Amino acid sequence: SIPLGFFGGIGAASKKGILVKGSNYLEALNDVKYVVFDKTGTITKGVFHVTDIQTRGERTKEELLEYAAVAESYSNHPIAQSILQAYGRDIHKDNVEEYEEISGHGIKVKIQGRTVLAGNAKLMEKSHVEFFVPDTFGTVVHIAIDGTYEGYIVISDEPKEDAKHAIQQLKKLGIKKTIMLTGDVQRVAEKVGRQLEFDEVYAELLPQDKVEKLEGLDARKGTKEKLIFVGDGINDTPVLARADVGVAMGGVGSDAAIEAADIVIMTDEPSKIATAITIAKHTRKIVW
Ligand code: ADP
Ligand code: MG
Repeated sequence: SIPLGFFGGIGAASKKGILVKGSNYLEALNDVKYVVFDKTGTITKGVFHVTDIQTRGERTKEELLEYAAVAESYSNHPIAQSILQAYGRDIHKDNVEEYEEISGHGIKVKIQGRTVLAGNAKLMEKSHVEFFVPDTFGTVVHIAIDGTYEGYIVISDEPKEDAKHAIQQLKKLGIKKTIMLTGDVQRVAEKVGRQLEFDEVYAELLPQDKVEKLEGLDARKGTKEKLIFVGDGINDTPVLARADVGVAMGGVGSDAAIEAADIVIMTDEPSKIATAITIAKHTRKIVW
Protein backbone atom coordinates (compact mmCIF):
# COMPACT_ATOMS: atom_id res chain seq x y z
CA SER A 1 0.00 0.00 0.00
CA ILE A 2 1.07 3.56 -0.69
CA PRO A 3 1.45 5.78 2.37
CA LEU A 4 -1.13 8.55 2.19
CA GLY A 5 1.45 11.30 2.55
CA PHE A 6 2.81 10.58 -0.88
CA PHE A 7 -0.46 11.66 -2.44
CA GLY A 8 -0.05 14.94 -0.61
CA GLY A 9 3.47 15.20 -2.00
CA ILE A 10 2.37 14.49 -5.55
CA GLY A 11 -0.39 17.08 -5.19
CA ALA A 12 2.00 19.68 -3.80
CA ALA A 13 4.40 19.00 -6.68
CA SER A 14 1.67 19.28 -9.31
CA LYS A 15 0.66 22.68 -7.92
CA LYS A 16 4.20 23.80 -8.75
CA GLY A 17 3.99 22.42 -12.28
CA ILE A 18 5.89 19.23 -11.44
CA LEU A 19 4.05 16.08 -12.55
CA VAL A 20 5.27 12.99 -10.70
CA LYS A 21 4.13 9.74 -12.32
CA GLY A 22 4.19 7.66 -9.13
CA SER A 23 4.95 7.84 -5.42
CA ASN A 24 8.01 5.63 -5.92
CA TYR A 25 9.67 8.42 -7.93
CA LEU A 26 8.93 10.96 -5.22
CA GLU A 27 10.49 8.60 -2.72
CA ALA A 28 13.52 8.04 -4.97
CA LEU A 29 14.13 11.81 -5.07
CA ASN A 30 15.11 11.60 -1.39
CA ASP A 31 18.10 9.47 -2.28
CA VAL A 32 19.29 11.46 -5.28
CA LYS A 33 23.01 12.29 -5.07
CA TYR A 34 23.80 12.87 -8.75
CA VAL A 35 21.92 15.29 -10.97
CA VAL A 36 22.77 15.06 -14.65
CA PHE A 37 21.53 17.69 -17.09
CA ASP A 38 21.40 17.85 -20.84
CA LYS A 39 22.65 21.25 -21.98
CA THR A 40 20.83 22.58 -25.03
CA GLY A 41 17.21 23.45 -24.26
CA THR A 42 17.49 22.18 -20.68
CA ILE A 43 20.18 24.31 -19.02
CA THR A 44 20.34 26.82 -21.83
CA LYS A 45 17.35 28.51 -23.42
CA GLY A 46 17.77 26.50 -26.60
CA VAL A 47 17.02 29.74 -28.40
CA PHE A 48 19.88 30.36 -30.76
CA HIS A 49 20.54 33.49 -32.71
CA VAL A 50 22.69 33.65 -35.80
CA THR A 51 25.63 35.86 -34.80
CA ASP A 52 27.99 35.33 -37.76
CA ILE A 53 28.05 33.96 -41.31
CA GLN A 54 31.37 33.29 -43.05
CA THR A 55 31.80 32.06 -46.59
CA ARG A 56 34.78 29.98 -47.66
CA GLY A 57 33.69 29.21 -51.21
CA GLU A 58 32.11 30.89 -54.21
CA ARG A 59 28.71 31.53 -52.67
CA THR A 60 27.58 34.71 -50.94
CA LYS A 61 26.51 34.90 -47.30
CA GLU A 62 22.88 35.20 -48.42
CA GLU A 63 23.17 32.05 -50.53
CA LEU A 64 24.83 30.17 -47.68
CA LEU A 65 22.06 31.15 -45.28
CA GLU A 66 19.43 30.16 -47.83
CA TYR A 67 20.94 26.69 -48.35
CA ALA A 68 21.16 26.23 -44.57
CA ALA A 69 17.56 27.37 -44.08
CA VAL A 70 16.20 25.06 -46.76
CA ALA A 71 18.25 22.16 -45.34
CA GLU A 72 16.93 22.81 -41.83
CA SER A 73 13.33 23.43 -42.86
CA TYR A 74 12.10 20.02 -41.65
CA SER A 75 14.10 19.97 -38.38
CA ASN A 76 12.64 21.01 -35.03
CA HIS A 77 16.10 21.25 -33.42
CA PRO A 78 16.69 24.66 -31.73
CA ILE A 79 19.60 25.22 -34.15
CA ALA A 80 17.26 24.81 -37.12
CA GLN A 81 14.75 27.25 -35.66
CA SER A 82 17.42 29.96 -35.33
CA ILE A 83 18.64 29.54 -38.90
CA LEU A 84 15.06 29.70 -40.21
CA GLN A 85 14.43 32.80 -38.12
CA ALA A 86 17.56 34.52 -39.45
CA TYR A 87 16.53 33.66 -43.01
CA GLY A 88 13.05 35.02 -42.34
CA ARG A 89 11.49 34.15 -45.69
CA ASP A 90 9.20 31.39 -46.91
CA ILE A 91 10.83 28.18 -48.00
CA HIS A 92 9.89 26.15 -51.03
CA LYS A 93 9.90 22.76 -49.41
CA ASP A 94 9.31 21.01 -52.78
CA ASN A 95 13.02 21.70 -53.45
CA VAL A 96 13.93 19.38 -50.56
CA GLU A 97 14.55 15.68 -51.26
CA GLU A 98 16.09 12.75 -49.38
CA TYR A 99 16.00 14.66 -46.10
CA GLU A 100 18.00 13.00 -43.35
CA GLU A 101 18.52 14.33 -39.81
CA ILE A 102 21.58 12.70 -38.31
CA SER A 103 21.27 12.73 -34.53
CA GLY A 104 24.08 14.73 -32.86
CA HIS A 105 25.54 15.67 -36.26
CA GLY A 106 23.14 17.74 -38.37
CA ILE A 107 21.33 17.49 -41.68
CA LYS A 108 22.02 15.78 -44.99
CA VAL A 109 19.63 16.64 -47.79
CA LYS A 110 19.26 17.06 -51.53
CA ILE A 111 18.27 20.53 -52.68
CA GLN A 112 17.59 20.86 -56.41
CA GLY A 113 19.85 17.88 -57.04
CA ARG A 114 22.72 19.15 -54.88
CA THR A 115 23.76 17.29 -51.74
CA VAL A 116 23.83 19.76 -48.88
CA LEU A 117 25.34 19.09 -45.45
CA ALA A 118 24.58 21.41 -42.54
CA GLY A 119 26.01 20.43 -39.19
CA ASN A 120 28.98 20.16 -36.87
CA ALA A 121 32.60 19.10 -37.31
CA LYS A 122 31.64 15.46 -36.80
CA LEU A 123 29.30 15.63 -39.78
CA MET A 124 32.04 17.14 -41.95
CA GLU A 125 34.56 14.50 -40.80
CA LYS A 126 32.10 11.69 -41.41
CA SER A 127 31.57 12.99 -44.94
CA HIS A 128 35.30 13.61 -45.58
CA VAL A 129 34.84 17.34 -46.09
CA GLU A 130 37.77 19.54 -45.06
CA PHE A 131 36.49 22.43 -42.97
CA PHE A 132 37.67 25.55 -41.19
CA VAL A 133 37.77 25.68 -37.38
CA PRO A 134 36.83 29.19 -36.28
CA ASP A 135 37.87 30.63 -32.92
CA THR A 136 34.42 31.35 -31.49
CA PHE A 137 32.38 30.54 -28.42
CA GLY A 138 29.23 29.94 -30.40
CA THR A 139 27.94 26.73 -31.94
CA VAL A 140 29.22 26.38 -35.49
CA VAL A 141 27.09 24.95 -38.29
CA HIS A 142 29.30 24.06 -41.26
CA ILE A 143 27.82 23.98 -44.74
CA ALA A 144 29.06 21.80 -47.59
CA ILE A 145 27.53 21.51 -51.06
CA ASP A 146 28.31 18.49 -53.23
CA GLY A 147 31.32 17.69 -51.07
CA THR A 148 32.79 21.21 -51.22
CA TYR A 149 33.13 23.26 -48.06
CA GLU A 150 31.19 26.53 -48.41
CA GLY A 151 31.54 28.16 -44.99
CA TYR A 152 29.83 28.29 -41.64
CA ILE A 153 27.13 29.92 -39.58
CA VAL A 154 27.71 30.75 -35.92
CA ILE A 155 24.80 30.66 -33.54
CA SER A 156 24.78 31.46 -29.86
CA ASP A 157 22.59 30.28 -27.04
CA GLU A 158 22.56 31.42 -23.41
CA PRO A 159 21.83 29.85 -20.01
CA LYS A 160 18.28 30.08 -18.69
CA GLU A 161 17.80 32.82 -16.08
CA ASP A 162 17.46 30.43 -13.14
CA ALA A 163 20.14 27.93 -14.25
CA LYS A 164 22.83 29.14 -11.87
CA HIS A 165 20.37 29.30 -9.00
CA ALA A 166 19.22 25.76 -9.89
CA ILE A 167 22.74 24.38 -9.47
CA GLN A 168 23.34 26.32 -6.25
CA GLN A 169 20.08 25.03 -4.76
CA LEU A 170 21.02 21.43 -5.58
CA LYS A 171 24.36 21.86 -3.79
CA LYS A 172 22.53 23.19 -0.74
CA LEU A 173 20.32 20.10 -0.78
CA GLY A 174 23.38 17.89 -0.44
CA ILE A 175 23.71 16.69 -4.03
CA LYS A 176 27.20 15.20 -4.46
CA LYS A 177 27.65 16.01 -8.11
CA THR A 178 26.00 18.14 -10.76
CA ILE A 179 26.95 16.96 -14.23
CA MET A 180 26.33 18.32 -17.73
CA LEU A 181 26.16 16.05 -20.76
CA THR A 182 26.01 17.57 -24.20
CA GLY A 183 26.39 16.86 -27.87
CA ASP A 184 27.82 20.33 -28.30
CA VAL A 185 31.57 21.00 -28.62
CA GLN A 186 33.97 21.00 -25.64
CA ARG A 187 34.67 24.75 -25.79
CA VAL A 188 31.01 25.79 -25.55
CA ALA A 189 30.25 23.13 -22.91
CA GLU A 190 33.16 24.19 -20.71
CA LYS A 191 32.22 27.83 -20.92
CA VAL A 192 28.65 27.15 -19.78
CA GLY A 193 29.84 24.63 -17.17
CA ARG A 194 32.27 27.09 -15.61
CA GLN A 195 29.76 29.92 -15.64
CA LEU A 196 27.12 27.83 -13.84
CA GLU A 197 29.56 25.95 -11.56
CA PHE A 198 28.81 22.42 -12.65
CA ASP A 199 31.07 19.80 -11.03
CA GLU A 200 31.61 17.87 -14.26
CA VAL A 201 31.05 18.51 -17.95
CA TYR A 202 31.13 15.96 -20.79
CA ALA A 203 30.86 17.22 -24.36
CA GLU A 204 30.64 15.95 -27.93
CA LEU A 205 28.42 13.04 -26.90
CA LEU A 206 25.96 11.26 -29.13
CA PRO A 207 22.68 10.15 -27.52
CA GLN A 208 24.07 6.63 -27.01
CA ASP A 209 27.26 8.08 -25.45
CA LYS A 210 25.05 9.83 -22.89
CA VAL A 211 23.58 6.46 -21.90
CA GLU A 212 27.12 5.07 -21.53
CA LYS A 213 28.14 8.05 -19.38
CA LEU A 214 25.23 7.37 -17.03
CA GLU A 215 26.25 3.75 -16.81
CA GLY A 216 29.80 4.87 -16.03
CA LEU A 217 28.44 6.74 -13.02
CA ASP A 218 27.17 3.44 -11.67
CA ALA A 219 30.09 3.33 -9.24
CA ARG A 220 27.23 4.20 -6.92
CA LYS A 221 25.76 0.74 -7.59
CA GLY A 222 25.04 -1.24 -4.44
CA THR A 223 24.47 1.98 -2.53
CA LYS A 224 21.15 3.74 -2.10
CA GLU A 225 22.44 6.72 -4.07
CA LYS A 226 20.20 7.63 -6.95
CA LEU A 227 20.76 9.55 -10.15
CA ILE A 228 18.41 11.93 -11.96
CA PHE A 229 18.73 12.82 -15.62
CA VAL A 230 17.04 16.01 -16.77
CA GLY A 231 16.50 16.55 -20.48
CA ASP A 232 14.38 18.55 -22.90
CA GLY A 233 13.53 15.40 -24.77
CA ILE A 234 14.98 16.19 -28.17
CA ASN A 235 16.85 12.89 -28.75
CA ASP A 236 17.20 12.30 -24.98
CA THR A 237 14.62 9.54 -24.67
CA PRO A 238 17.11 6.64 -24.20
CA VAL A 239 18.89 8.51 -21.39
CA LEU A 240 15.60 9.47 -19.71
CA ALA A 241 14.65 5.80 -19.67
CA ARG A 242 18.04 4.70 -18.29
CA ALA A 243 18.21 7.09 -15.28
CA ASP A 244 16.83 6.12 -11.84
CA VAL A 245 14.57 9.12 -12.22
CA GLY A 246 14.14 10.63 -15.70
CA VAL A 247 12.88 14.21 -15.76
CA ALA A 248 11.57 15.88 -18.93
CA MET A 249 11.54 19.66 -18.99
CA GLY A 250 8.36 21.16 -20.43
CA GLY A 251 8.15 23.64 -23.25
CA VAL A 252 9.52 21.90 -26.32
CA GLY A 253 9.41 18.42 -24.73
CA SER A 254 8.47 15.77 -27.29
CA ASP A 255 5.65 13.28 -26.68
CA ALA A 256 8.18 10.44 -26.63
CA ALA A 257 10.14 12.17 -23.87
CA ILE A 258 7.05 12.89 -21.80
CA GLU A 259 6.20 9.20 -22.16
CA ALA A 260 9.73 8.03 -21.20
CA ALA A 261 10.05 10.43 -18.25
CA ASP A 262 9.14 9.63 -14.63
CA ILE A 263 8.66 13.28 -13.80
CA VAL A 264 7.58 16.06 -16.16
CA ILE A 265 8.30 19.69 -15.36
CA MET A 266 5.71 21.85 -17.06
CA THR A 267 7.64 25.10 -16.83
CA ASP A 268 11.00 25.88 -18.34
CA GLU A 269 12.81 26.27 -15.01
CA PRO A 270 15.70 23.93 -14.07
CA SER A 271 15.34 25.17 -10.45
CA LYS A 272 12.18 23.04 -10.26
CA ILE A 273 14.46 20.02 -9.74
CA ALA A 274 15.47 21.40 -6.35
CA THR A 275 11.80 22.21 -5.64
CA ALA A 276 10.85 18.59 -6.39
CA ILE A 277 13.57 17.24 -4.07
CA THR A 278 12.49 19.63 -1.32
CA ILE A 279 8.87 18.45 -1.64
CA ALA A 280 10.06 14.82 -1.55
CA LYS A 281 12.02 15.43 1.65
CA HIS A 282 9.08 17.19 3.25
CA THR A 283 6.73 14.40 2.19
CA ARG A 284 8.97 11.76 3.76
CA LYS A 285 8.86 13.66 7.06
CA ILE A 286 5.07 13.58 6.99
CA VAL A 287 4.90 9.88 6.11
CA TRP A 288 7.22 8.64 8.83
P1 ADP B 1 22.55 18.63 -26.73
O1 ADP B 1 23.09 17.32 -26.28
O2 ADP B 1 23.35 19.77 -26.15
O3 ADP B 1 21.08 18.79 -26.48
P2 ADP B 1 22.18 17.68 -29.47
O4 ADP B 1 22.55 16.25 -29.17
O5 ADP B 1 20.76 17.98 -29.77
O6 ADP B 1 22.77 18.68 -28.33
O7 ADP B 1 23.04 18.15 -30.73
C1 ADP B 1 24.45 18.03 -30.68
C2 ADP B 1 25.11 18.79 -31.79
O8 ADP B 1 24.76 18.22 -33.08
C3 ADP B 1 24.69 20.24 -31.89
O9 ADP B 1 25.43 21.07 -31.01
C4 ADP B 1 24.99 20.53 -33.36
O10 ADP B 1 26.37 20.81 -33.53
C5 ADP B 1 24.65 19.22 -34.07
N1 ADP B 1 23.27 19.23 -34.58
C6 ADP B 1 22.22 18.50 -34.12
N2 ADP B 1 21.10 18.74 -34.83
C7 ADP B 1 21.43 19.68 -35.76
C8 ADP B 1 20.71 20.37 -36.81
N3 ADP B 1 19.42 20.17 -37.03
N4 ADP B 1 21.42 21.25 -37.57
C9 ADP B 1 22.72 21.48 -37.36
N5 ADP B 1 23.44 20.88 -36.41
C10 ADP B 1 22.83 19.99 -35.61
MG1 MG C 1 19.04 18.66 -26.11
